[in-house]
Amino acid sequence: MQLALAQAHAALAAGEVPVGAVLVRNGKVIAQAHNAPISKHDPSAHAEVLVMQEAARLLGSYRLDDCSLYVTLEPCTMCAGAVLNARLRRLVWGATEPKTGAAGSVLDVFSLPQLNHHTTRKGGVLAADCAQPLQTFFKAQRVAHKAQAAETRLRDDAVRTPDTAFQGLPDYPWPPNYISDLPSLNGLRMHYLDEGPSDASVTWLCLHGNPAWSYLYRHMVPVWLAAGHRVIAPDMPGFGKSDKPKKDATHSFEWHRQVLLEFIDALDLRQIQLVVQDWGGILGLTLPMAQPWRYDALLVMNTTLATGERPLSEGFLAWRQMCADKPMFDVAKLFARGNPQMSSDECAAYNAPFPDAGHRAALRAFPAMVPSSWDSPGAAVSRQAAAFFNTQWQGKSLMFIGQQDPVLGEPVMRELHAQIQGCPPPVLLPQAGHFVQEHGHEIAVQAMTDFGLN
Ligand SMILES: [Zn+2]
Repeated sequence: MQLALAQAHAALAAGEVPVGAVLVRNGKVIAQAHNAPISKHDPSAHAEVLVMQEAARLLGSYRLDDCSLYVTLEPCTMCAGAVLNARLRRLVWGATEPKTGAAGSVLDVFSLPQLNHHTTRKGGVLAADCAQPLQTFFKAQRVAHKAQAAETRLRDDAVRTPDTAFQGLPDYPWPPNYISDLPSLNGLRMHYLDEGPSDASVTWLCLHGNPAWSYLYRHMVPVWLAAGHRVIAPDMPGFGKSDKPKKDATHSFEWHRQVLLEFIDALDLRQIQLVVQDWGGILGLTLPMAQPWRYDALLVMNTTLATGERPLSEGFLAWRQMCADKPMFDVAKLFARGNPQMSSDECAAYNAPFPDAGHRAALRAFPAMVPSSWDSPGAAVSRQAAAFFNTQWQGKSLMFIGQQDPVLGEPVMRELHAQIQGCPPPVLLPQAGHFVQEHGHEIAVQAMTDFGLN
């Protein structure tokens, strides 16, 4: 066991979970090994497996029935299984493993008469000595995690929706990614989905609007992933899993545009298929002119370029009034109203980011931020974007219009359509409302076909 312990310390030095093992036959050490899943990129590279492999190779037989295995930690189910398969005579371990031990702690593989014939076993040998490197290792890991958490410490002027709010949402299995070192974020933590290979031939960049988040794209993401594409879907600050500034006034057109520009730069996204709707378009349509070479195609759903040249639609003014009158409006109900096909759990997922009024600054700020006159913040850059799409846009385009949308529906979209050169006639979706992505599966499929990506 002292030799096994020396192996455990070698594992610790190598940055592996410190477990060591020694295989003995007729009082002679045949093989020694330590855990190496990280360095070998092998989930099965536990000390016990490695030491049995080495011994079996030296002895020219997979049967180790006259051997004893000494290991510093109670074996897991895999290793216990390997011990049985090797028909080891004797197993001796040091520290017990209350979380995964398969020799008595969690379960006892060796006590099943159907499986086991002759392995005798003994635990707790030099238990304290064997536990010590493990304690050192996991303490260091906790310290490292703490340091990492401190890096994304929550800014004093922001709130962060607890992770628990997002547990078990339907059709949203993707792990979070965070970025907080963009200059414009100034330490705020922004969340984004990043799925598919980073060297994929194309990247779908999906931008949501108010009051949605990346959840809005759950029907479209799988279609593109199945084709081997990469999908990026950020949650704008104030939305989804991103940090939320406490003050309404933190939100501005220019700030959010800058965050998106820096985000795209930081990830160095290319061959972008830009997917926009609502504020995802009000902001997103102003992005390609800054770096046209990053963009291949535009998939545009109910949105607008708010150039300040025309009055905002009556539907939009009604929406803005509703947000002002009822600042605590139920986001889930908003989705349920236009989408009878959605389950109540899906609707509730849109409330998840906003547990209370303190989390809703973006919801209060955004309706008033839509540029409404010639000199509104964002209007000039929107006019530049309109000119860009009208005369310089070289990418492919595809437009879908949810016809049930009273805010940014067909009349608004027809105006936008006239501004995008080369955009084929829009596809009308009579059943879809404002949140067109809720009918996104077919849209995602058709976009791939029309953009020649099949
Ligand atoms: Zn194991």
